[in-house]
Amino acid sequence: QKAEWKQLKSAASVTADGKKLILGANIGTPKDVVGANDNGAEAVGLFRSEFLYMDSSELPTEDEQFEAYKQAVEGMNGKQVVIRTMDIGGDKELPYLPLPDEMNPFLGYRAIRISLKRQDIFRTQLRALLRASHYGKLAIMFPMIATVKEFKAAKAVYEEERTKLIKAGVPVADDVEVGMMMEIPAAAMIADKLAKYADFFSIGTNDLIQYSMAADRGNERVSYLYQPYNPSILRLIKNVIDASHAEGKWTGMCGEMAGDQIAVPLLVGLGLDEFSMSATSILKTRSLMKKLNTAEMKQLAEKAVTECETTEEVVALVKKLSL
Ligand code: PEP
Ligand code: MG
Repeated sequence: QKAEWKQLKSAASVTADGKKLILGANIGTPKDVVGANDNGAEAVGLFRSEFLYMDSSELPTEDEQFEAYKQAVEGMNGKQVVIRTMDIGGDKELPYLPLPDEMNPFLGYRAIRISLKRQDIFRTQLRALLRASHYGKLAIMFPMIATVKEFKAAKAVYEEERTKLIKAGVPVADDVEVGMMMEIPAAAMIADKLAKYADFFSIGTNDLIQYSMAADRGNERVSYLYQPYNPSILRLIKNVIDASHAEGKWTGMCGEMAGDQIAVPLLVGLGLDEFSMSATSILKTRSLMKKLNTAEMKQLAEKAVTECETTEEVVALVKKLSL
């Protein structure tokens, strides 16, 4: 089995009936592109930029960030690298950026909510990203978008920095895609509206499941509610994918669910375009995809979404497939 996976390292990700999908890696530092390439990643679907802020005793400068982003896009040799803007807050604290004490940090001041308030920090990051876009295929996404207004506000700041850089004669790519994480149920419900403005969606199931089930993703006592295959979650995912396709956009997934071997047949059936996971899961997922027929998976997903009542019923459906 392992030998078969190795052979798939430079193969495309295709289903049994020839549908081309993208298998990407999630990375946390620019050095991780080595592991991504070694495992045959066709993209980086999520570069968590937090390390720049966490591994430092002060705010990272524009140049420090530029070097890190440039290293990542160059290391991927023209393959797309989706870089997520700062997702600090929730459980991630910074010693030099005091955040208010909150009763519910996961429901509080975090991610894009901080970026829109602290535009000094946000603009520095966007400039670094734009400058790095000249050196490869870079895409940007905003974490924790809940409303159309937030996305438009973030995009407007991006456009301002872009215009300033171009006026100053700094080279920036002209095809930078700007998308958003889909990890808040309210956003998933208005995916059709958001799809008019975002170039792509990336479903963050770790948070989407936590917020949909109202169950802290790190709390053992309620971990039984972390149910990726629950029809409720599948319906949200379907809504997001369908909405993006209706606008000619694409949807990826960068939460743990994207590399889950039970979930993959369902996600292929729901029409997910890009799967981003820890690099070590890529080859086994590519091998699994080769066995899946898209029409059959579409029927499977349809059944799971419309007929099943529970997670257990969905799992039983998937397990009935002869894979
Ligand atoms: C997610 O929420 O699924 C996600 C990919 O982001 P993080 O795990 O960094 O919150
Ligand atoms: Mg998240």
